[in-house]
Amino acid sequence: MENKKELRNWLDEYNLNHPLVIGGPCSAETEEQVVKIAHQLKDSDATVLRAGIWKPRTRPGNFEGVGALGLKWLQRAKEETGMKIATEVANPHHVELALEHGVDVLWIGARSTVSPFIVQDIAEACRGIDNPVLIKNPINPDLSLWLGAVERFYTCDVKNLGVIHRGFSTYEKTKYRNIPEWQIPIDLQNRFPDLPLILDPSHIAGRRDLIFDLSQTALDLNFDGLIVETHYDPDNAWSDAAQQITPETLVQHMKDLKIRKEIGVDEAYQRTLNELRAKIDVADNQLLDVLSKRMKISDEIGKAKAKQNVAILQSKRWNEILGKMILEGEEKGLSEEFMLRIYKAIHQESINHQKKVAKS
Ligand code: PEP
Ligand code: MN
Repeated sequence: MENKKELRNWLDEYNLNHPLVIGGPCSAETEEQVVKIAHQLKDSDATVLRAGIWKPRTRPGNFEGVGALGLKWLQRAKEETGMKIATEVANPHHVELALEHGVDVLWIGARSTVSPFIVQDIAEACRGIDNPVLIKNPINPDLSLWLGAVERFYTCDVKNLGVIHRGFSTYEKTKYRNIPEWQIPIDLQNRFPDLPLILDPSHIAGRRDLIFDLSQTALDLNFDGLIVETHYDPDNAWSDAAQQITPETLVQHMKDLKIRKEIGVDEAYQRTLNELRAKIDVADNQLLDVLSKRMKISDEIGKAKAKQNVAILQSKRWNEILGKMILEGEEKGLSEEFMLRIYKAIHQESINHQKKVAKS
C-alpha cells in the first residue's frame, strides 16, 4: 500500500469544519441509554455515535456486551438523530450483522489487530464495502503489525480506511491505562500522511481527567479526529466507568481544545510551530524516561559495588564511556562540547545515585 490522497476521500466527504468526533458509550447497555446519549450528542461536533455491542474483555466474567440486539438500538438512534453509527466487529458474523443493521463505520479492536488470522477473516468479510473501517493499533507497540492490518483491508478492496491510536499495553504500571508511545503514530503518519488518524484518549487514559490533554496533544500532532467514550452516568457505566465522560464534558472539551483551524493570524506558521512543539514534548518525555531508566541501572550497580566493597568511581570505565559517546555523538550531529557537558552531568547524577544506595 502506498500513501495516496484518496485515502482520505471518505473523511473529506463528511465535510466537517472541525476534527471528526466519534462519541458514545463504551458499551450499549439498554435501548434507552443508547438513544438518550445519541440525543445528547446530536447537536455537538460528534457526528458519529459509537457503542460496543460485542465487548472483548481481557478476563472473562466482565460485561461482554448485549450482542446483536443492541444493533437495533443503534439503528433507532440513527433514525432519530441523523448521526452515523459505529461499532466494533471482531469476526465475519459481526460484519454481516452490522452491515445489515445500517452501521456506517466499523472499527477493529486492539485485541483483533494483533492477530493476522482474525484480521484476514474480518477483511474478507468486508470485501468491497464502502463503509469506513477504522483499525485500532494492536495492544503491543508494533507498527508493522498495525500497518499489516490496514494492508489486509486495502487488498480486500476496502479503500475507506482510517487508524485509531488507543495506546499500548505495558506490564509496568503507569498513570495511563495504555501508554501513548506517540512516536509510533508519528512514524505511521510520516509514512501515510493521508491515512486518517484518530485518537482514542479514553483507552489510553483509563481515567477521565487525562482525556483533555491527550486530545490536545493529538490535535497539535495533526490527528484528524477523536473517539471518546461518553455516557450520561459515567460512574455507573457497565464497562470502562472510570474513563467515560458526560456528553456535556465532551461538548466543553471541543470548545476548549485549540483546533488548528482557529489558530490566529499567521495560521500556517502557528500550525507548524504547534506541531513541532508537540513533537519536542514527545521527545522530551522519551528523554526523561531514558534518563530515569539509566539511573535505575546505576542504583543496581551501586548495590553490586557496595556488596563487593568496590569504589564507586572507576575512572577507566568512565573515560571509555566518554570517549565512545563523544564519537557516536559526533556521528549524530552533536558537538563534542555538548556531549562532554551532558555526560559529565549524567555521570555526576549516576555517582550520586550509587552513593545513596551504598549508604542505605
Ligand atoms: C472499545 O473501544 O471499547 C475497545 C474495546 O477498545 P480497544 O479495542 O481499544 O481496547
Ligand atoms: Mn471501552
